[in-house]
Amino acid sequence: MTDLNDFQTFMTPNYGTPPIIMSHGIGSTLWDQNGRKFLDFAGGIAVSALGHSHPEMVSALTKQAAKLWHLSNTLANEPAIELAKALVQATFADRVFLCNSGAEANEAAIKAARRAAFNQSGIEKFEIICFDNAFHGRTIATVTAGGQAKYREGFGPMPGGFTHLPFNDCKSLDKTISEKTCAIMVEAIQGEGGVRPICPTFFEKIRAGCDRVGAALIVDEVQTGMGRTGKLFAYEHTSFEPDILTSAKSLGCGFPVGAMLCKNWIAKHFIAGTHGSTYGGNPLAAAVALKALALINTPEMNAAVTARSEQLQKGLHVLNKKYQLFQTIRGKGLLIGAVLESSYADKAHELVALGQKQGLLTLIAGANVHRMAPPLIISSTEIEDGLTRLECVYSDFKKLFSN
Ligand SMILES: *Cc1c(COP(=O)(O)O)cnc(C)c1O
Repeated sequence: MTDLNDFQTFMTPNYGTPPIIMSHGIGSTLWDQNGRKFLDFAGGIAVSALGHSHPEMVSALTKQAAKLWHLSNTLANEPAIELAKALVQATFADRVFLCNSGAEANEAAIKAARRAAFNQSGIEKFEIICFDNAFHGRTIATVTAGGQAKYREGFGPMPGGFTHLPFNDCKSLDKTISEKTCAIMVEAIQGEGGVRPICPTFFEKIRAGCDRVGAALIVDEVQTGMGRTGKLFAYEHTSFEPDILTSAKSLGCGFPVGAMLCKNWIAKHFIAGTHGSTYGGNPLAAAVALKALALINTPEMNAAVTARSEQLQKGLHVLNKKYQLFQTIRGKGLLIGAVLESSYADKAHELVALGQKQGLLTLIAGANVHRMAPPLIISSTEIEDGLTRLECVYSDFKKLFSN
């Protein structure tokens, strides 16, 4: 049997050693190598929106697998064209660039915004405004755009032209936006940064600022998109539209795929030869994402996510009345973060470990936030089951860490 010693021997140590080797999954349940069962409140970090082994997803993948895997972008394929069309029809966007991950979608967004500004206004309009605690991926440009210094440490020099401001702070935004601003890049809810929702007036300010100086509003919906918040994309909760939106994670529901969606005024500068990706838009990934979009983008799915969200948040508030571990519970849809009281600072990872003992998979979002991002198809019975397990987790945690 494959074991974790081999993980430690053969894999680079950048992830640390996980505690479990999983074997298979169905719906919101996973089984490890020894047949032990886990309820999935992590969803592969907001990826497995349709749970595991969804029959229609398996069928979309295997049908395409028997037909055509890869061509390169010198030839076109049906699923990629259909996916781009479906994404345009479902959103603000006019055009779509397909790639393989969230970081790549953000790289494409940065390059597209820079090129549009360069063509329209010249070499001086390059500044990209980003925010503290943001997360946009792990490539050199996207860790630069991100707002966590620890992800940049030791990888310098970093590319220039990125300015970081405090998140949800209108004053510093007003002071910083200028004719040099090429784009403002922001998450609808900072996911990795602690499940922090954007304040609606801040979002409005960003939109107005972009309009004033002719900058592109890039909304990173890699984590919040594809039904996660109870709408297809989280920007739909506001009355504003981005110029560029990035998607990945739940777009493939576990199959690697990313997309950069944009308006024509951006796309028209992304001419032949400006950008590319060998695997981007490959028929396998596109067929899977096309099916995911069809299954997720329905009023029924949005209603289910909203209902499960209310149930989960209500349950968490009840538990918190009893155990008093959290100062606040925040997020939207099925992206929920419970923020630990300062007396339990830096202990969110202990909650994840205790959860695993109870057969419940959860996440952290920074050192102080217990994050949950279950599959969107999770049932109310499973939410109830998860809350029962969470009660044991919080009770154990309290015994271990209160004094
Ligand atoms: C996960 C994430 C990314 C990076 O996606 P990868 O597929 O890991 O490259 C980018 N932005 C946000 C908001 C994310 O949550």
